[in-house]
Amino acid sequence: MAVQQWWQAAADLILGATCPGCERPGAGLCRACRSLLGARGVCEVDHDTLPVFSAGSYDETARRVLEAWKERQAWGLRRVLGERLMLAAAAALMATDHPGRWWLVPMPSTPGAVRRRGMDVTAALAAEAARGLRRAGVDARPWRALTGRRRLRDQTGLGVAERHSNVAGAFRLRTPPRDGHVLLVDDIVTTGATLSEAHRVLCTAGARVAAAAVIADTPRRSAQS
Ligand SMILES: [Zn+2]
Repeated sequence: MAVQQWWQAAADLILGATCPGCERPGAGLCRACRSLLGARGVCEVDHDTLPVFSAGSYDETARRVLEAWKERQAWGLRRVLGERLMLAAAAALMATDHPGRWWLVPMPSTPGAVRRRGMDVTAALAAEAARGLRRAGVDARPWRALTGRRRLRDQTGLGVAERHSNVAGAFRLRTPPRDGHVLLVDDIVTTGATLSEAHRVLCTAGARVAAAAVIADTPRRSAQS
């Protein structure tokens, strides 16, 4: 366990647990933060190559909650974040309206990130969202189709063109395409460069990529200015 994780675990024991969204005392995500996460609702966000549906805006609450999930092992958030992703996925499925099986393909994490976090956090949410869709009668399965080919630079602070060149050639297919349609899934979309590259790799291999779903979207234009 890394020092930071150990410290967080110890702090929870000594100071009591806090809500990962607002840090008020309490176990898990509080009701106010839960409703803030869903306040905007699902909408389609601007993307060059495929329909992308997002379950909310990447505001302060979403930032804190996703950071707690990804970097502080707040595994109790799995269900609520999986549900957010499922709502975006359901909107994508309805908009594209393809019958048959859907494969939810998570954006790959680097092996280093998986080791550090103790889990492939995006794959875990893809599995959770697929489970939710199956409960609603949709034939949806998670598929870890992609793997990282090389180390990526941290995308934070990179412009649109830099993000595209950073991810170009970054992924490769782990297994051959399967029957059905692909829904790409990720936690956050900024410029959409990662989704575009995953889309390109999968389409080149013959997979039918129909759309993408994310938990939160950053304002693209303002993020780049
Ligand atoms: Zn809260």
